[in-house]
Amino acid sequence: MSRAYGGPGKYIQRRGEIDRLAAHVAPLGTKALVLVDKVVFDALKPRIEKGLDGEIEARFERFNGECSWAEIKRVTAIASDAVVVAVGGGKTIDTAKVTAMNTGARIVVVPTIASTDAPCSAVAVVYDEHGVFVESLRLTRNPDVVAVDPEVVVAAPARFLVAGIGDALSTWFEARSNLESRTDNYVAGGFPATQAGIAIAEKCHEVLMRDGLKAKAAVEEGLCTTAVENIIEANTLLSGLGFENCGCSAAHGIHDALTQLDETHGFLHGEKVAFGVLCLLMLEDRDPDEIEAMIHFCRAMGLPTTLADLKIVEDVEAKIERVATAALKNPDDIIYATPVALSVPLLRDSILALDAFSRALD
Ligand SMILES: [Zn+2]
Repeated sequence: MSRAYGGPGKYIQRRGEIDRLAAHVAPLGTKALVLVDKVVFDALKPRIEKGLDGEIEARFERFNGECSWAEIKRVTAIASDAVVVAVGGGKTIDTAKVTAMNTGARIVVVPTIASTDAPCSAVAVVYDEHGVFVESLRLTRNPDVVAVDPEVVVAAPARFLVAGIGDALSTWFEARSNLESRTDNYVAGGFPATQAGIAIAEKCHEVLMRDGLKAKAAVEEGLCTTAVENIIEANTLLSGLGFENCGCSAAHGIHDALTQLDETHGFLHGEKVAFGVLCLLMLEDRDPDEIEAMIHFCRAMGLPTTLADLKIVEDVEAKIERVATAALKNPDDIIYATPVALSVPLLRDSILALDAFSRALD
């Protein structure tokens, strides 16, 4: 009968919020370390500086591009006791979250793209310098504030928002895996999901199906509509709360293992997760109408639905055997939340069968 729910202290989404960060940082401290993704550093630093001016003593630092242990150590060494402000994508945010845990500091997250569900959660994913998955950390605190400026998100290439939809697509399907396998969530050491958490995961899916295509069309023109605002909230808040409060399963497990293959390094997290979702549905032997509908949705969004879409074209069977072996290597891995008796042959064949099923729909 136990259950637990966790999330960030506050979530704010408003046009122009990047210029008003002092309102969120000042209540937490007088000094800030602002870790900014190098892609947006030059464009956003003057605006953030101006917004914090007079109220906060800010030090700006460029994020080096990978959430690795080396980068976390480097940023921790310069953070002292300042409020950590993360401005960028999932890897910048995860580095800042771990830094704030190391120093005991408060944390403000300012996502500049809506490409992952990293901003709201207390989970951080560490990679090596080459982008290969190393480990997933469950931190003791969620960010204090998550502040999203939709105008900044819309100014980024549409591919990021689409990848975020791919990541958010996993939320309900992986929640369903966890409910069926009765696996604990990621809150406070692990508890069954609350009704609130389950409702959020369901709502996330509903918003994607309703507003995904409209939002894609709008952001490709640099437009910020209600559908775009709804998708930003789904990708960032609903997906973040959904996965943390209900749990991940094979969509993310397959994603993590796909990072073993060099071919996939050019793809974004959410793009690989979307393919992982389709594989999860095949692995769980779901209704073919559901699998087909999700393949069509991913194709309409421009998300990968075959191994060839992920540039995996040579020695395919051997490579997928490697992926399946890597995915199942650690008995504590999230993939074991899938309500299926997992084995390397079953996982390998399910991935290959999903690929064949998808190709047959052409
Ligand atoms: Zn994800």
